[in-house]
Amino acid sequence: MARTDYYAVLGITRESSEDEIRSAYRKLARQYHPDVNKSEDAPVRFREVTEAYEVLADPQRRQRYDMFGSTDGAVGFGIDDLFNTFFGGETRRRERGPMRGADLRMQLEIELIDAVRGGERGIKVPRLETCDRCNGDGTEPGSTVTTCEQCGGRGEVRQVQQSVFGRFVNVSTCPRCGGAGKTVDRVCARCRGEGRERKERDINLTIPVGIDDGQQLRVAGEGEAGMRGGPSGDLYVLIRIKDHPRFRREGDDLVHVLRISPAQAALGDELDVPTIEGQRTTVRVPAGAQHGQSVRLKAKGVPHLGAAGRGDQLVYLDVVIPRTLTKDQKILYQKLHAASGIPEQSEDDRGVFDRIKDALI
Ligand SMILES: [Zn+2]
Ligand SMILES: [Zn+2]
Repeated sequence: MARTDYYAVLGITRESSEDEIRSAYRKLARQYHPDVNKSEDAPVRFREVTEAYEVLADPQRRQRYDMFGSTDGAVGFGIDDLFNTFFGGETRRRERGPMRGADLRMQLEIELIDAVRGGERGIKVPRLETCDRCNGDGTEPGSTVTTCEQCGGRGEVRQVQQSVFGRFVNVSTCPRCGGAGKTVDRVCARCRGEGRERKERDINLTIPVGIDDGQQLRVAGEGEAGMRGGPSGDLYVLIRIKDHPRFRREGDDLVHVLRISPAQAALGDELDVPTIEGQRTTVRVPAGAQHGQSVRLKAKGVPHLGAAGRGDQLVYLDVVIPRTLTKDQKILYQKLHAASGIPEQSEDDRGVFDRIKDALI
């Protein structure tokens, strides 16, 4: 995804200080604010400079942006809030209704065998949960609730204001009650009125049989608690599968390499190999087997995700030429050579080369 160059948007350099960033933003925001600038592209430009400022003014997000060219979409504060920190007054009413909790993202590393067998896995999820003490409304149990004097229970205050952009009628959240329309004499002692508290929760995650590396599981309602009666967010778990010392996964097939001698390749043999599930099975090496050739063991691979059946186990044959020979072996190889001679050269070795490379890398 192409990212906007935030430095160019603000007309500054990567070395600019926080003060320079702020003053560049202030200048451009005044220039493009839709209340002053009536040209068609002003709202777009205003959003651009504001987005650039949001990222570059936050040292952590700026660092991430410098490193990765992206900021993960994590927005620390809204454009309206930001505008207000510069120019005062609220231009829009703050949300007061139920608010859905944030989605959470985690990563879980599992073994290949876990993907083959599936099953349950307990994971620890740090998240914001509804406060037990106040049931999420932020008031200390037994405290007295009164209608807010400042806003008369409406939760907002109106104010006519003169600014560089002209006259505004500002409707803003009541500063006394925070928009609730009522005040309490004591806020909840545990969550300090926030209605939520941070907890580490044990979640039981079902790992489906056949899941692959990079796939994501969604656990509905196990994200952060909502506010003011809003629903909880969801939990997303990204599955990473550790490398297996022997098997490599290709789709739902499991590939491994079996070392055999030139004699076994020429004569054929029956050999014992392990399966991913720890059993033994027999692989039949056909007489005249070639280096890099594979033997397919049906239905010994990874079960298909959400479907019947499973992949295969592919045994790649690695014909190992001895590096040293005993005296007896040497005599036998000499006899063998005298009897068989040199194989004819073929122009069609590319397929063999690719097979070997694929299997062994
Ligand atoms: Zn109020
Ligand atoms: Zn509380």
